[in-house]
Amino acid sequence: MKKCQKCGEEKELDAFGRHPEGKDGMQSQCYVCISIGTKQWRKDNPEKWKAMRDRYNNHPDGIFQHCRASARTYKRDWQITIEQIYFFVSEGCFITGCKDRVTGLDRIDCSIDYVFSNVRPSCARHNEMRNDMTDEEYIRKCEEVVAWSKL
Ligand SMILES: [Zn+2]
Ligand SMILES: [Zn+2]
Repeated sequence: MKKCQKCGEEKELDAFGRHPEGKDGMQSQCYVCISIGTKQWRKDNPEKWKAMRDRYNNHPDGIFQHCRASARTYKRDWQITIEQIYFFVSEGCFITGCKDRVTGLDRIDCSIDYVFSNVRPSCARHNEMRNDMTDEEYIRKCEEVVAWSKL
């Protein structure tokens, strides 16, 4: 049991998030208090919240976080460092000629986990379009679209 510094309630440890720098490695406030506090803060600071969201969406740190989170969701091993993400973002979308902003990582072989040699930066659209196809399938599908557009 641990006492929440905000609401003062004694709660089970799993009611608290982890916080590596915290005294006991846990957040001092329970999940409920933190989420109430976060919502209130967003309401009171709409400009800052917007800036944070933009930063998150555009920034390598944000890409790192959301890619790692999705790797976790799909139970994929994650071995990409933040430096590698910075490198990928400076490279731009892997599709030749596409200058769109990189929003995520595309696994070259979808059956392999997130390791440096198996990922490429890609923009949201290309990532979505390719989905789980191999390069060959993806290119073939794109060729079909091009052929269709000329009908
Ligand atoms: Zn609390
Ligand atoms: Zn692209």
